[in-house]
Amino acid sequence: VSFGRRQVEEQEKEHLVRAVFDSVAPQYDLMNDLMSAGIHRIWKSVLLDRLAPQPGQTLLDVAGGTGDIAEGFLARAAARNPRGRSPATAIVMDINHSMLVAGAERTKRPEDKTLVAEDGSPLLRVCGNAEELPFPDRSVDKVTIAFGIRNVTRRAAALAEFHRVLKTGGQFICLEFSRPITATMEKLYYLYAENMIPRLGAWVAKDRDSYDYLVESIKRFPPQDAFALEVQGAGFQRVKVENMSAGVASLHSGWKY
Ligand code: SAM
Repeated sequence: VSFGRRQVEEQEKEHLVRAVFDSVAPQYDLMNDLMSAGIHRIWKSVLLDRLAPQPGQTLLDVAGGTGDIAEGFLARAAARNPRGRSPATAIVMDINHSMLVAGAERTKRPEDKTLVAEDGSPLLRVCGNAEELPFPDRSVDKVTIAFGIRNVTRRAAALAEFHRVLKTGGQFICLEFSRPITATMEKLYYLYAENMIPRLGAWVAKDRDSYDYLVESIKRFPPQDAFALEVQGAGFQRVKVENMSAGVASLHSGWKY
């Protein structure tokens, strides 16, 4: 079997991403809080506001890691459903088993594949690749991906998959690091990212290389407008971009009709 240069590069990226997240999984939640001074929680809360979870809906959170978006989705849907009829369902899907295990351990039910959140709503953790989702066409109401798309090797394939599994009328939201929209913020942000993040990685997670990769992957990811075109290209309509913290992160959303 012979591989072209592009296939070799794609395989190398896949291996690198797996190694990075296997390595950081045990410290992942702590590092997220330290690196962003807790701000990632605010960004995720805005994502959940835009998602407006409802009882009876199914969320697929791709590259869901330890599962905080899924847990937030279930909690908010349950708050709108005091009698507990037809609860919401959330699926956390991630390519790295170690990230799913770290999340399951947080909920103290590591032996279960199917977990039940505190409110009784089902929370399912599934190992799989964003580029080939193991779910049928038109099977979920919402698809989210938070800080995951920049790690995906074939982005167009993944976006097409998100569109495929959504029901008609379904919503897609992506939260990702983006390009700061002011020159001052850009300077400050890259100064911080290049100097502090790898150091924190070395001190806390004992893994500087993985956090060097993180900073590099943020710089390589396309700016807001270019990524919005990719989302449109996958068939999503009413595509919107919302900058947060002056563009350090942004939400891209779209609908399937
Ligand atoms: N969504 C979580 C959050 O916001 O905290 C986790 C984000 S973490 C930075 C990126 C995640 O993407 C990792 O858990 C990694 O294993 C996962 N990932 C990378 N490539 C993937 C792929 N092709 N398919 C599914 N998950 C992937």
